[in-house]
Amino acid sequence: MGNSTNSLSIANSDGATLTARQRISLGLAVVGVFLIFLAWLSGNLFNTSNFLWPSLTLMTIGTLWFTYETYAHHPDGIKNNNLWFNSLTNRGTIGWITGILITAFYVCLYFFPSLLGYNPDGANISLIKMFDPISYMIKGEAASQWFVYGVLYTFAILIMGVKFIMKYRHNSYQIFRTISVMFFQFGFAFMLPEIMYTLNESLPYYDWKNMWPLNYYFFDSYNLDKMIDPGFKQSMDLSTIMNEKSGLIGLMMLVWGLLMIFVVSPILAFFFGKRWYCSWVCGCGGLAETAGDPFRHLSDKSLKAWKIERWMIHLVLVIVVIMTILTLYTYFSGSGKFLGVDTYWVRKVYGFLIGSIFAGVIGVGFYPLMGSRVWCRFGCPMAAILGIQQKYFSKFRITTNGSQCISCGNCSTYCEMGIDVRWYAQRGQDVVRASCVGCGICAAVCPRGVLKLENGPQDSRKLEMPEFTGIK
Ligand code: SF4
Ligand code: SF4
Repeated sequence: MGNSTNSLSIANSDGATLTARQRISLGLAVVGVFLIFLAWLSGNLFNTSNFLWPSLTLMTIGTLWFTYETYAHHPDGIKNNNLWFNSLTNRGTIGWITGILITAFYVCLYFFPSLLGYNPDGANISLIKMFDPISYMIKGEAASQWFVYGVLYTFAILIMGVKFIMKYRHNSYQIFRTISVMFFQFGFAFMLPEIMYTLNESLPYYDWKNMWPLNYYFFDSYNLDKMIDPGFKQSMDLSTIMNEKSGLIGLMMLVWGLLMIFVVSPILAFFFGKRWYCSWVCGCGGLAETAGDPFRHLSDKSLKAWKIERWMIHLVLVIVVIMTILTLYTYFSGSGKFLGVDTYWVRKVYGFLIGSIFAGVIGVGFYPLMGSRVWCRFGCPMAAILGIQQKYFSKFRITTNGSQCISCGNCSTYCEMGIDVRWYAQRGQDVVRASCVGCGICAAVCPRGVLKLENGPQDSRKLEMPEFTGIK
């Protein structure tokens, strides 16, 4: 495939230049995005809260109209034409600019929220002020940087989710899983925690679908204290907790969190593989699948990347386990030192390097440069656990009808996890890989119907792998 990295051109899914309607609709969406950056850069110059609805409206109308113009006039079937000739999706100039802007946003969000206009001691300005109206509407107070992030994140998944569904509208599995991530992001990750926190501020801000170790602060002292009623913790008297309304809900959060980790997740992973979480529920996966869809082909397919991936993701898992053990040690013993190691320091370093830099800044900011699943593939400890379960204790596999494969390579190209699916297809080998998130795109783009995502008897999976055969 060709690659014109210096090109600034944008073309439609047929590879042709954009039609007039596509240009206008795209222009509307771009103006909506521009209003966000104008609000951000304007400081105290404008009353940016007036920008909110015009911006959201323009982005919504522009994106939906563009989606309609791009896909509705074509017969069903996936069109990924021209991706390597588009500056946004071939690591060209627009791609780099987009990556740098998203990265800058994340850096400000995590480390310099005042640069976004957040002012906890007074009135917000610039970007954060822009979202004050919606924050007052939902929770009756001014916006914080995390509220703004939640709104933008959820909006991106919803609006790009509609685009994704339109693009893959002939494929019921793609429609199902996209509606699922849209539902979980909007209901469970955004609305429910906001509403519950508004009703009772003593409760922790709790995302009911997020679990340890992705939610690495689940076992933090402050979080445990909020979930476990202080009276209950001191007296261990069940009647105390049962008589406290907030304490009972807090306890439910704790029990649900533990059930998710030790019961619900392993059972679902046994039946469905890691896709039940990574492709149907998780917010990180949700954003990667919807907003990140145009970048999925940028994932590195080399054997070297696979080796790095396995080392990194399992190393993060080991580190999060150690960090959590130290955190729990401090919680129960009251001592901030374990064998001379400052447990708070370990927790802080993990939060900074993995929770903020890796999961946030690199995880999303690098979509246009390294593909959409950088975090899921190289860093997420939740994906590491699910991957081990999927590889060794699951019924899930992708079966291949090797005799039908024409070696076109579409499956490998569009695998966001960098799996060389064609290698397996050419050999009629099941794809049983820890990293596979079960997105099903490989099967969707295959012109010969070679690949099928299936659940079946665990011992019927063909487990021969390139790493063992040494063929690759
Ligand atoms: S192998 Fe297929 S289902 Fe698995 S992550 Fe890659 S594209 Fe998705
Ligand atoms: S997309 Fe289908 S035909 Fe093409 S290489 Fe993959 S399995 Fe073979």
